[in-house]
Amino acid sequence: MIYVKTDVEGYVKTAENLFKAGRITYNFPPETPITEKARGRHILIFEACKSCGLCAEICPNMAIQMVEREIDGKKVLKPQIDYAKCCFCGLCVDICPRGALRFTCFPMLVTMDKNNLNIHLKCWLNLPN
Ligand code: SF4
Ligand code: SF4
Repeated sequence: MIYVKTDVEGYVKTAENLFKAGRITYNFPPETPITEKARGRHILIFEACKSCGLCAEICPNMAIQMVEREIDGKKVLKPQIDYAKCCFCGLCVDICPRGALRFTCFPMLVTMDKNNLNIHLKCWLNLPN
């Protein structure tokens, strides 16, 4: 009997909130900033990255690969993130000795093909912070 009472109370509370709360969803595309400390897409400061690979080593989901890029005629390794695997834990950001890998509060990751989520970070240098 106590379970029925709890269930009923829960439904009543949900119904109350449904009509009282007003709009609680964000528009899409989102109104930014969502919050200052939100963990959105990463940004890579290319000049600061020393290609040490620590971010790739610490990633628990093996979402980061060091891939070869050509910069000013020189071949260098830079991190690339597969967002189909990333859980936004932040370990890669925390361990980066140069502060080269950072979160933005830009949350949009929308695609119909998960292969499009394996992203070369240089493309994102101009995203809003
Ligand atoms: S982003 Fe930071 S941790 Fe990753 S390779 Fe560059 S310097 Fe190293
Ligand atoms: S935020 Fe976490 S899961 Fe995502 S790439 Fe960095 S270490 Fe890996």
